[in-house]
Amino acid sequence: MVDAAELTAAEAYILLRWQLEMGADEALDESAVDRYAATAATAAARPMTTIPAAASGLPAPAGPAPRQPGPPAAPVGLNERAGARPAAAQPPRSGAAVARPAVAIESPQLVADAAGLAAACITLAELERAIQGFDACALKRTARNTVFADGVAGAEVMIVGEAPGGDEDRLGKPFVGVSGQLLDRMFATVGLERTRNLYITNILFWRPPGNRTPTPGESAICLAFTRRHIELARPRILVLAGGSPAKAVLETTEGILKLRGRWTEYVLGDGTRIPTLPTLHPAYLLRTPAAKRQSWRDLLLIQERLEMLRGENAV
Ligand code: URA
Repeated sequence: MVDAAELTAAEAYILLRWQLEMGADEALDESAVDRYAATAATAAARPMTTIPAAASGLPAPAGPAPRQPGPPAAPVGLNERAGARPAAAQPPRSGAAVARPAVAIESPQLVADAAGLAAACITLAELERAIQGFDACALKRTARNTVFADGVAGAEVMIVGEAPGGDEDRLGKPFVGVSGQLLDRMFATVGLERTRNLYITNILFWRPPGNRTPTPGESAICLAFTRRHIELARPRILVLAGGSPAKAVLETTEGILKLRGRWTEYVLGDGTRIPTLPTLHPAYLLRTPAAKRQSWRDLLLIQERLEMLRGENAV
């Protein structure tokens, strides 16, 4: 390692900028930790395994219920719109039937541990405690807080976003920064508020340092918990805000601009089909205000579907 005392001011400045660009934007310790040495030691102890996502130890992914009685349910397709006939060519999203791309997960055992812990939780409070106590995800080591959820547990609509940012990390709640405020205003226009009938979470429970992209292992650990989160929250409608939650939860490589505004279904372990709508992330809308028109359409789709579901329940 370079001795800081030997650096000129210009060299120190360049190194500092490089660290910032690499995502090291907060000083967490008095002395620097040599992560390369730590990674090499871990890798030596547990060599990287390439495994198919289906074998990653995650709970059963969204897909048609294996024990669904009666006539075959309508195919579940990413291009399915409410009430529309799905295209015949739509592949099923069954974990068993779909050959999913192999992902290199650096810590498959940790993913299996997370999945096991999550499966053992039977209430949202238990799940929150399990996630709070799960120290094996590297993201947790640099985060200030575990960001579990906000809003009404068991609400009609559940939004799953991407990852806590700086504000969320500081306050321990999802979507409390600028994009969260936009999200609140948007959903309030269709009568959905976190104080009454909205439940909000993210696919990641800890802020990645410097908002870097999480590793496949970090994502898979959080996704194991998120799948259980959806299972226990049992919303009437699931909204996936942004490309990464849509891709992760639906196990697709399609981009959010293609996915948004198209109803699909998320199938729980007991076969319950949750109408699911991918939509644009509010941070994208802040950068691209013209896209708010599309989001408005998505909000109307949610409102319409919710009214339909409420009507069905009232009969
Ligand atoms: N963006 C997200 O996706 N989630 C948050 O909680 C905040 C910003």
